[in-house]
Amino acid sequence: MEVNRGRVVLGRVVRGGPLAHAHYLGKMRVSGQLGHSIRRRASKSMADAAISSGDVLKVIHQEIDECRICASSVQGLLKPASMKRGEAGKVMIVGKGPGRTEVQEGKAFSGPAGKKLEQWLSRCVPNPGEVRAGIYFTSVTKCLSPDPSFPILAKNCWKFLDRQIDAVRPALIISLGQEAYEALQVTDDSYAHAVCRLYDSSESMLFTRFGCHYKLMVWPHPSGLNRWLNEQSNMARLETSFEIVRSEMGVIS
Ligand code: SF4
Repeated sequence: MEVNRGRVVLGRVVRGGPLAHAHYLGKMRVSGQLGHSIRRRASKSMADAAISSGDVLKVIHQEIDECRICASSVQGLLKPASMKRGEAGKVMIVGKGPGRTEVQEGKAFSGPAGKKLEQWLSRCVPNPGEVRAGIYFTSVTKCLSPDPSFPILAKNCWKFLDRQIDAVRPALIISLGQEAYEALQVTDDSYAHAVCRLYDSSESMLFTRFGCHYKLMVWPHPSGLNRWLNEQSNMARLETSFEIVRSEMGVIS
């Protein structure tokens, strides 16, 4: 059992099937601060479940819009007035953070990388005419800062991503780029190994921080500056991942 960043990460302890999980859970005793933390999250999740995920998200979005925590320690912080993040469906996309276009337009993934992402999604979604339908878009950080400040923002902002996943409870999360993949902590695999692979949190964790298991597809960042996308062999991996995502979306839709 591992306690990470003050939150519970019961990961990487059991790699067997459901029986192995049951066996381990039967023996596990969680107490003290850790137990309190788990119970508090469980009761919060039950309370949140009593109201719709849309209502919970509205509250979270308002708190994000009002948050100025990083402004005191980061120079040049750019904060969108608000952000359109799409629909709370069964698929969630998690990027690194908003770019300048997103900050100006107040719409997640509205810049050039977002256009590329939409092209990728059009290869996977049931209706290519509505690539954003049923998908909730978010990022590790909700504001933009000079790159060296990213770890500060990510540390302060994690609580919002945590709550967004808890509210949406997606069946499939697609992470974009290394920072988003590492923030989700589903496996110990290096990003280079993980990219374009599908993971199932139930195979590496007893339970997640969010009270639900989900599948994770690790996509590269769709930025035009991402040189990984220039390699033909990498593009072949990405093509294969489109088929996997299309199949997953077919199962959960
Ligand atoms: S990055 Fe997140 S924690 Fe920092 S000011 Fe913006 S919303 Fe708040």
